[in-house]
Amino acid sequence: MMNRQFRLAARPVGLPKPSDWRVTEEPVRDPADGELVVQNLFISLDPAMRGWMNEGKSYIAPVGIGEVMRALTVGRVVASRHPGFATGDAVSGMLGVQAYAHSNGKGLTKVDPALPLPLYVGALGGTGMTAYFGLLDVGEAKASDTVVVSGAAGAVGTLVGQIAKIKGCRAVGIAGGPDKCRYLGEIGFDAAIDYKNEDVKKALREKCPAGIDVYFDNVGGDILDAALAGLARGARVVICGAISQYNATAPVKGPSNYLSLLVNRATMKGFVVFDFAARYGEAAREIAGWIAAGKIATREDVVEGLDAFPDALLRLFRGDNIGKLVLKV
Ligand code: NAP
Repeated sequence: MMNRQFRLAARPVGLPKPSDWRVTEEPVRDPADGELVVQNLFISLDPAMRGWMNEGKSYIAPVGIGEVMRALTVGRVVASRHPGFATGDAVSGMLGVQAYAHSNGKGLTKVDPALPLPLYVGALGGTGMTAYFGLLDVGEAKASDTVVVSGAAGAVGTLVGQIAKIKGCRAVGIAGGPDKCRYLGEIGFDAAIDYKNEDVKKALREKCPAGIDVYFDNVGGDILDAALAGLARGARVVICGAISQYNATAPVKGPSNYLSLLVNRATMKGFVVFDFAARYGEAAREIAGWIAAGKIATREDVVEGLDAFPDALLRLFRGDNIGKLVLKV
């Protein structure tokens, strides 16, 4: 068996270029004692990967030059000398952008192969955990709140809106283009704002007449500023991500409307989903129940082939995806 790997060749400036990657091939060696080998079947494509390519201090160490690119994957055990894992087990973990990975079992989770495997990098993986804990724990969403989410037609955003509806909130999504806004209606959002064709600040005033109780921010920049201008008293602003800033070559654009926090006695809080790891089981069980009951629609945008990785990653920044973007190895 030959492995094929995408390694970081250079730290990107702006959007990653093909030359920022180096493809390597090497035979897959037999597992050592206590090790197992996983064949990656699906690789999660996440906006955060752009941040992991940068030098400097963050919530996680940067990927080193020459290292296999970090990524969450789901796959099958093809060889094992680990007492906890057998050949054929379906597993998920941070196994990287490569066809095969060795693991000592640390950080690896066995998953139920009866469910579609891409779910484990989507609604039942990091994406679902981010939506669940970001909305319910950090945002403290409660029935009758007006919840606004940006990046609404993406992986995290589609789940935030649907969980908000389950909890009795009003859900308003901000997304780019009429197709995405139509999709938000199909999955139960009460209203959608097309930020590419509408004045977001004005549309928020119209669609949230009593103000925004929870603003779940996936994009930062001008949309964050527009949402700050529309907060209700006691609002919670959840800083989940800022994709509009991830490829910036100038300093990140901060919000200018932050005094709205003062006027409205509001809070703005960032979070990293890893801090909720001890409670992932609880969230995954609840989300799986909602999917089984037809209360949550999941959608994966699947790109075929490991070699499609460099361009597939850029789809996130072009806004080409609806739902969870996944690479099928
Ligand atoms: P995603 O929303 O599926 O994909 C990214 C989407 O962002 C694109 O489809 C695009 O949709 C939108 N976008 C791209 N460039 C934009 C821009 N300049 N302005 C506005 N929107 C833009 O990705 P995801 O995996 O669900 O991640 C969503 C956010 O959650 C990201 O910011 C990510 O970093 C964050 N996140 C945070 C944590 C945490 O622990 N805090 C964990 C996971 C993810 P449009 O067509 O609508 O523009």
